[in-house]
Amino acid sequence: MDREELIRQLVEGERRWHELPEEIPAHTQAKIRRRALEKLTGTQLDNIAAYTLDPVRASTRHAENFIGATQIPVGICGPLKVKGTWVDADEDLHVPLATTEGALIASINRGCRALREAGGAVVRVEDVGITRAPVFRTLGIDDTRRFLDWVRENESKIRQVAEATSGHLELLDIKSQTFGSSIYLRFRFRSGDAMGMNMATIACDRVVRDLIEPATGIPCVALSGNYCVDKKPSAVNFLEGRGKRIYAEVVLDGGILERCLKSNARSLVEVQYRKNLLGSIAAGSMGFNAHYANVLAAVFIAMGQDVAQVVEGAMGVTCIEPRGDDAVFASVYLPDVPLGVVGGGTALGPQQEALKVIGAVPDPENPGAGAIRLAEILGAMVLAGELSLLAAFTSGDLAGAHEQLGRGAIPDAT
Ligand code: NAP
Repeated sequence: MDREELIRQLVEGERRWHELPEEIPAHTQAKIRRRALEKLTGTQLDNIAAYTLDPVRASTRHAENFIGATQIPVGICGPLKVKGTWVDADEDLHVPLATTEGALIASINRGCRALREAGGAVVRVEDVGITRAPVFRTLGIDDTRRFLDWVRENESKIRQVAEATSGHLELLDIKSQTFGSSIYLRFRFRSGDAMGMNMATIACDRVVRDLIEPATGIPCVALSGNYCVDKKPSAVNFLEGRGKRIYAEVVLDGGILERCLKSNARSLVEVQYRKNLLGSIAAGSMGFNAHYANVLAAVFIAMGQDVAQVVEGAMGVTCIEPRGDDAVFASVYLPDVPLGVVGGGTALGPQQEALKVIGAVPDPENPGAGAIRLAEILGAMVLAGELSLLAAFTSGDLAGAHEQLGRGAIPDAT
């Protein structure tokens, strides 16, 4: 069938977007869909048509009904110094960030300079594990007790079935919660260098279908019962952690505060207290911080992470305390950051390049270390972002920086 006929059928609704003949190459399928969409909407799609992604991978692993790609500007921050477990204090790190928010990269870069002058951010990461929590329906209390007894007595069998689904998955524990006739089993897995959400879901599916349901006769109502909790801010993730739990800290003396951040200890401590702490209490917020979401989103987009998980990753607490005469101790705490360096969007070309730039790649000798390295660098970047933005409030520079960098006149191309 010729292309014009396929385009006509798509436009007329006689063929659906996913019903193009399989023998047509992926990039041609994208072209046909784009042409149909152009006709349907009267919109030229020249920018969406310009991409370097592998269309076969993009259309079969990442975006159904593939038509092309959007572009997010990428800038660089650094050198960044991190004293981590999988990042050496001697390394000069250059971190790509993807954003459309003018002033963001400049601001984080200013924070990176302050960290560098202080000798680097100290960062530690705990691999808490990724979670998935199916919900089951029982007949009531006695049925629920029988079910939970069975789960407890058969934990090693459950572990065996779950871990057989992957060479990189380890079941850490199962936590239960019951309400009325509903039981939630929160499975927690370590997933090597991958973020692990697909791995955990596949493992839970296997355990539920092949083991729990046949053995107990208790039906699973949904494989995700929202007690996981994926892509929603939640108390359980805040308190127990999810993915990676990240701690980063630095001591900045008065000279660095003045030179790099145009600020001082007293003003920073006050803004932190009144804005991040009291203001967040007033709002009933779960993010006692200035803008973790900004840094997470920019790193996640550049490095192929699941951007929707910024929703949970942005929970956390920034602390700024006076130290000595004119210094501050500054720290960030992020209890719930799912991330990885294999799987998902990390396989795409531009995202792979960005991960390689920071050396966050899987190392067969040290399983999981690549993901921890990414988390350590992210923690330091979040700290840099917090310091710079809080300092901008103390010097009254916030609106001006956005006006100049986000809205300023665009230079003549000539
Ligand atoms: P994935 O791409 O589904 O799976 C990662 C695979 O990488 C594993 O199956 C593993 O193979 C393999 N692998 C190779 N080297 C590895 C290493 N060093 N460490 C760990 N694994 C290694 O990725 P995922 O992290 O499980 O899931 C991420 C994707 O899930 C993202 O696209 C995200 O958007 C999506 N997601 C899914 C759900 C869901 O409910 N399914 C929810 C949220 C997000 P082996 O298994 O053979 O060991």
